[in-house]
Amino acid sequence: MSLVSSRLKSIRPSATKAMTARAAALKAQGHQVITLSQGEPDFDTPLNIVEAGIQAIRDGRTRYTAVAGVAPLREAIRDKLARENGLNYSIDQITVGCGAKQLVFNALFASLEPGDEVIIPAPCWVSYPDMVRLAGGEPVTVNCPEADGFKLSPEGLEKAITSRTKWLMLNSPSNPTGAVYSEAELAALADVLRRHPHVYILSDDIYEKLVYGAARFATMASAAPDLFDRTITINGVSKTNAMTGWRVGYGAGPIELIKAINVIQGQTTSHTSSISQYAAIEAIAGDQSYVPEFRAEFEKRRNLVVERFNSAPGLSCTVPDGAFYVFANCTGVLGQTTEPGRVIATDTDFAMYLLDEAGVAVVPGSGFLASPYIRISYASSIEDLITACDRITAACAKLT
Ligand code: PLP
Repeated sequence: MSLVSSRLKSIRPSATKAMTARAAALKAQGHQVITLSQGEPDFDTPLNIVEAGIQAIRDGRTRYTAVAGVAPLREAIRDKLARENGLNYSIDQITVGCGAKQLVFNALFASLEPGDEVIIPAPCWVSYPDMVRLAGGEPVTVNCPEADGFKLSPEGLEKAITSRTKWLMLNSPSNPTGAVYSEAELAALADVLRRHPHVYILSDDIYEKLVYGAARFATMASAAPDLFDRTITINGVSKTNAMTGWRVGYGAGPIELIKAINVIQGQTTSHTSSISQYAAIEAIAGDQSYVPEFRAEFEKRRNLVVERFNSAPGLSCTVPDGAFYVFANCTGVLGQTTEPGRVIATDTDFAMYLLDEAGVAVVPGSGFLASPYIRISYASSIEDLITACDRITAACAKLT
């Protein structure tokens, strides 16, 4: 009898984490590796939030809290959702967990019966399909080509829906493509969803504040208010507030689902850190003047990476409207040969080549169910990005 459950047979370790670990191992051996594989801001957590965390410790906020999170945090989230998204939830419809990631998993685990289908527009975040499998469901990925802006079309959605469909997962701005759905695009998807009342919508809004240029953030529960009762809206403080390690995310949705999520959380993690919860109140309700600064810095870096990649031999990319990723097409390097005589047959080969030859860690598109692409996170200093782009361009130029 195997020690490890058969449930894990089809689950892969995250491609992002695998590449980051390989880069860390090379760094430990003394190699000068630039890591552009990690999805986290390089900024420090803003000081007002740090101070709120320290104050929480001093005030003895170090005990178990309510499973759904402390009331002042849920009130801050309720007010944020009303103020910024026009969504009116009661405090019982809101729950706080250990990052948006745990909320996504708990929502799936709380709702899926074996064989239930979950529609995932691809390219998609590495974790979605495996989370669905872990929760006993069947991921149904729908290919959303670059020509469609990597976005799900109403026709693609209509075709993917069956009587077993439980969820449509939406993530805008998207990891890995940076694609942002406009309100009109969400409304067009809502027209399809209205015809299929058994389908629920999970909206992962974690990159909400990282939208650039003329693009505007929109979310399904407000773009289609009649679908409010069929939608769970998930968000958190990791990306906007440079708080990845604090582990605070939240979900707001139908009360029976939130209650079920609280049952799971009550029997597993109990709640996220009490200290992090108090810091998150400051992140959500306190001074956020740093957000436009973060956004402006990210936009500058995005423009740099896009320009540099479009002039590298064999690479091309469109301009992503949000998040902090560039998803570059690497069709042009496939079939080419490296100096030691190895043929680049896949985007994984290319990512490995960039790590070995250029000392730059990126993630192959295959990890996000779309090939041949590489994902670059531009949440790194301008200096590192310039060096990385120089090295990638030189490595591409060496291929024959
Ligand atoms: N959702 C998406 C699409 C992400 O890319 C990530 C992190 O990479 C998360 C959720 C996880 O966020 P958190 O740190 O709040 O768990």
